[in-house]
Amino acid sequence: MSVKEIFKSMEYGPAPEASDLAEKWLEEHSRDFACYIGGKWVRTETGFETLNPGTGKPLAKVAQATKKEVDLAVEAATAAQKKWARLTGFQRAKYLYAIARQVQKHSRLFAVLETLDNGKPIRETRDIDIPLVARHFYYHAGWAKIAEQELAGYEPVGVCGQIIPWNFPLLMLSWKIAPALAMGNTVILKPAEFTPLTALLFAEICTRVGLPAGVVNILTGDGETGKLIVDHPGIQKIAFTGSTEVGRILRKATAGTGKKLSLELGGKSPFIIFQDADLDSAVEGLVDAIWFNQGQVCCAGSRLLVQEGIAEKALAKIRERMEKLRVGNPLDKAIDIGAIIAPVQLERITELVKQGKEEGADLFQPSWSCPTEGWFYPPTLLSNVSPASTVAQIEIFGPVLVAMTFRTPKEAVDLANNTVYGLAASVWSENLNLALDVASQIKAGTVWVNSTNLFDAASGFGGYRESGYGREGGKEGLYEYLKLPFAHRTATAKTSKVEANEDPIDKTHKQYIAGKQARPDGGYSLTLHLLDKTTEEVARGNRKDVRNAVEAAQAAFTNWSKTNGHLRAQIHYYLAENLQDESASLEKALARSGSGKQELEQAIERVFTYAAWADKFDGQVHSTAQKGFTYTMNEPIGVVGIVAPNEAPLLSFLSLVLPAIASGNTVVAIPSESAPLPIVELYRILEMSDLPAGVLNIVTGLHAEVQTYLAEHDGVDAIWHFGDPAAQARAEMLSAGNLKQTWTGHSIDWASNKSEGTHFLRHATQVKNVWVPYGE
Ligand code: NAD
Ligand code: MN
Repeated sequence: MSVKEIFKSMEYGPAPEASDLAEKWLEEHSRDFACYIGGKWVRTETGFETLNPGTGKPLAKVAQATKKEVDLAVEAATAAQKKWARLTGFQRAKYLYAIARQVQKHSRLFAVLETLDNGKPIRETRDIDIPLVARHFYYHAGWAKIAEQELAGYEPVGVCGQIIPWNFPLLMLSWKIAPALAMGNTVILKPAEFTPLTALLFAEICTRVGLPAGVVNILTGDGETGKLIVDHPGIQKIAFTGSTEVGRILRKATAGTGKKLSLELGGKSPFIIFQDADLDSAVEGLVDAIWFNQGQVCCAGSRLLVQEGIAEKALAKIRERMEKLRVGNPLDKAIDIGAIIAPVQLERITELVKQGKEEGADLFQPSWSCPTEGWFYPPTLLSNVSPASTVAQIEIFGPVLVAMTFRTPKEAVDLANNTVYGLAASVWSENLNLALDVASQIKAGTVWVNSTNLFDAASGFGGYRESGYGREGGKEGLYEYLKLPFAHRTATAKTSKVEANEDPIDKTHKQYIAGKQARPDGGYSLTLHLLDKTTEEVARGNRKDVRNAVEAAQAAFTNWSKTNGHLRAQIHYYLAENLQDESASLEKALARSGSGKQELEQAIERVFTYAAWADKFDGQVHSTAQKGFTYTMNEPIGVVGIVAPNEAPLLSFLSLVLPAIASGNTVVAIPSESAPLPIVELYRILEMSDLPAGVLNIVTGLHAEVQTYLAEHDGVDAIWHFGDPAAQARAEMLSAGNLKQTWTGHSIDWASNKSEGTHFLRHATQVKNVWVPYGE
């Protein structure tokens, strides 16, 4: 083709990035890699091949780590951790800084290697993945330096097992390793089996910068290796990014082990276009939202919600744009979409698109065809999709967009939230009033206003609901790698005996549900043998009581979560006043439960604490690397189920319930099993208070029974279990169903000032990051 002809047709020619550097690196290692343990390369007996999705051909052989290597790695990481944590923040900062420099220095090798192993376009690895990796190490080098002042009192968690997926191999590695190391932890990281190579190159960099042996260990292998890491008793924290399905397995596997857990899981994120949006920008944004990385992105804008009046016009524009997208050799700098990771993923996408058509969707794919060598799938649009259909609900994890329409902002929000996930959302409107109002109502960890796929180390990323819990990036992400030990009490409290009555009795003992004292469903009671040798009876809650309480809490959440902090503060102050007025009866109930006046005074003070905090647990504006602002909101989680401990029955109960309601959650609480009397006494006081009906619901009963109903209820979004440690394990196990956030503790000194404040409020909230770019 002559230059003249090219000018006429404006056709792209191939512009492949040279892969010689990466090929040379692979050859230098004879295309055969070991595991990186304690700063050394350790060979394993077996291994497997990693392939190039752009060609379908093998790139290299990597090791399959077995129990032997996992044990070795845990040993190395444990030995290294104490010394690593004892370094000054400045010393750790210098290592992280050196890593960032090395990533930049070798960025081309990293980018090409990533593209070869993963099949994503070189434009993306070069301009997005690798620069962001360096940014994460720089950002966290900074946190390492200033943590001693900014996070005083917090301690590193210890040895962290980190398991990552194949879609952003080195980027996910950096999101995991940088904060862990900055906070004084050591790590054992397992890359995904499809994409192990850049993690191995990263290991070489660790050696090159002189990182102490054992601080970073890289074990390659499949899910079996992952399982061995998760189950190892020498590991204190598991950080996982991957599918929701495996996330659930990990929640169950770590239940009761005391391991800290963070989960970054799947998504089905809405991309909302209002009729007053700048449509050209929105369509370009959409291309990025769903065709970036072949749509194999957990936060992909895979559900297009477009306002009815412009739907036809928008879809026509999208189809036209799709026709011009180019799928091809990932190393070609002029292509838009690269290869799908593996044949199994290609099959899954093909199968789901077929199902979408069968369920009535209209299919559009461009007229051109994909390369036949390697694994490719064309950009695909399924329109006219019903919100309940499979393709509208299931994460496809491929270049497939499903489109639906809406009429009103309310309908847009309802559709956006009509998913079990809550990872991200994109909202397009030139009316900032509308866009920000919608952003506030979407249940997702990240909302992009008139933008999409903006990432930066200074902003936390992570999910709501079944997209998981924990954040990566920002100050909020650091807490995943820190612990703040509770103040523990030494003496064990005397407790009363509790007896279940077999026969239903006449006297009606009550639960507190929806703002009223409610008869227990079963009509059974418990007899308490109190410390003053008298007996008393309370209601024995059953499944139906718990269900009623959860329904009341769910109904109350909509309004309570929207109240402002000032109002919640006033309600708390008034509650404190009422407790004071009713002190005689409360003191009596406390005395009969083995406690006294002092506990009541501490309880009233605690109400004041959360009256104070209710309007002060602020969000932040993050200094992200783009023009505009990224603000965070500490949003309530939803319905929090609380199992209170037996000890300090009034103080412990309020210490847990108040931070939850002060931050806008609604609560179903199970009070002390052996000393519920002070809480039963509280019912009357709550009735007199200004707390709206349903915000706090209380179900008394045998813990073994009621906690199970609470922990397995899908209407409960978080479960805090401070009762019997053996029962906590079961609650954590049951939380896997809808991936409730969990929090446990026992033998706590509730009177300590460590038993209140921001640590509690942090557990009661989840951070939403809203990106609002402006200007050119
Ligand atoms: P996956 O869950 O199958 O695998 C993820 C990782 O877990 C891999 O390293 C794998 O070897 C390992 N693994 C598999 N089974 C395991 C087990 N039983 N125990 C321990 N480890 C195990 O997911 P995938 O197919 O690699 O990745 C795609 C999924 O990841 C998508 O669903 C996507 O939504 C999700 N994802 C989420 C995020 C996020 O930040 N939320 C980011 C990227 C990907
Ligand atoms: Mn590969």
